[in-house]
Amino acid sequence: MKEYDIIVIGAGMSGLASASEIYKSNKNIMVLEARDRIGGRLSSERLPDGVLFERGGELIHGTKNPMYTLVNELGIEIRELKKPKTDLSIVESMQLLFVGVLLRFGLNPKPRTDESVSDYVNRLPFLPKPLKEAFDHASKDFETLDKVSALMIEDMMRQQVLTGEMYGDRDFVFKDGYITLLSHLAEELPIAFNHQVHKITWQDEHVIIETNQGSFSANKVIITLPIPILKKMNFEPALPEEKQVALSGHVSGDIIKLVIPVQKKAFKTQQEEGGIEDATVVPLWWRRNSPQDKPDDRQILVGWITGPYARHYLSQSPDDALNLALDELSEVVDIELINRDDVIVQNWMEDEFSAGTYCYIKPGFGLSIVDHLAKSLDNKLFFAGTATSSAKSRGTAHGAYESGLRVAQEVLA
Ligand SMILES: Cc1cc2nc3c(=O)[nH]c(=O)nc-3n(C[C@H](O)[C@H](O)[C@H](O)COP(=O)(O)OP(=O)(O)OC[C@H]3O[C@@H](n4cnc5c(N)ncnc54)[C@H](O)[C@@H]3O)c2cc1C
Repeated sequence: MKEYDIIVIGAGMSGLASASEIYKSNKNIMVLEARDRIGGRLSSERLPDGVLFERGGELIHGTKNPMYTLVNELGIEIRELKKPKTDLSIVESMQLLFVGVLLRFGLNPKPRTDESVSDYVNRLPFLPKPLKEAFDHASKDFETLDKVSALMIEDMMRQQVLTGEMYGDRDFVFKDGYITLLSHLAEELPIAFNHQVHKITWQDEHVIIETNQGSFSANKVIITLPIPILKKMNFEPALPEEKQVALSGHVSGDIIKLVIPVQKKAFKTQQEEGGIEDATVVPLWWRRNSPQDKPDDRQILVGWITGPYARHYLSQSPDDALNLALDELSEVVDIELINRDDVIVQNWMEDEFSAGTYCYIKPGFGLSIVDHLAKSLDNKLFFAGTATSSAKSRGTAHGAYESGLRVAQEVLA
């Protein structure tokens, strides 16, 4: 059996952030990763003609977070996505909604633990027009408004507003993909790819980790698995009740991402992102391009399909669903110039090692379940991953990064 001081499970943003911090202090460390690549829910790829696209996370949200600072320190090239000044992002809509409610009603009634955002909004005595519009706009993307705890979202928005650390006010894309930052973090790290962990035994002095390629032992183990995967992991002994409740109190969102390569000249608008009025399939889109592109160069149009839209998409045959989506996107591009065989339909719910996308607290569970999720056990098992990050960053790539730094400090303390 191979022995290490510290093993990190998962080479996504949080695993790489923690491992790269710990590696600097000369610990005998190993990262175990089920896939054959780094990045997890961040996955940069290129089309045969070299055009870059991202299957998963794509944007850096906001500027006041340590990941944005790091990217700038490293000189990694990013570009701000231009959006119409009048268009609110989804997160800005949520901020407007909750801050508006706070100002108008003094946040009274307060969200109840058992309420979803939709239930809460429906319970308000009335919603002034701009707040109603903000809610409707947010519903388009924040798919899970009927599944997600109002307390969680209110907490998230309040923290963002109080600290001024908003995300969603400005969005950036990586010129050469998220992979540039991930590769920097992974530099020199020992990573065992194609090692799928299926059992973690933590009752003795050393933790034993069983994978499809043999067993490993370590004094301390950092677990960065996505919530749906963590829920199914075999722990011996079982995780304490508190941790299990924390896991069952989280729900994963549904997202399908359409990646559509299309020539620059096919676009009917200069806009780089926008919504589709009365959409039934693709409520939001954005465009990945470079200011230097010539009319025949290919760019990427992204169709963002969430929650009820994603479920509706999946209820159709693949061909019908794509036809409907392209029909709606004909507002934005000349769909005659799209080659359907080139369209990538990325369904993260079916991904074996993520089994979902963003994670939210379900109505009925208090905010303390996040602390329970993040809490270490017996100075042997440590937990990171975006679901364990601070309220204002939860769910994002920078939240994952932040959680990796936090857990590295805990392990090294
Ligand atoms: C479609 C989509 C779009 C998004 N867009 C954005 C965005 O624009 N901006 C943003 O900030 N965030 C975005 N996000 C969220 C962001 O991608 C995630 O918050 C972040 O990447 C999560 O990092 P993580 O390290 O917590 O988890 P992960 O990236 O999921 O890493 C966990 C790792 O564990 C590995 N693993 C799983 N099972 C096992 C096992 N049994 N054994 C060993 N290894 C295992 C996985 O392969 C993975 O590498 C998006 C997410 C999705 C899905």
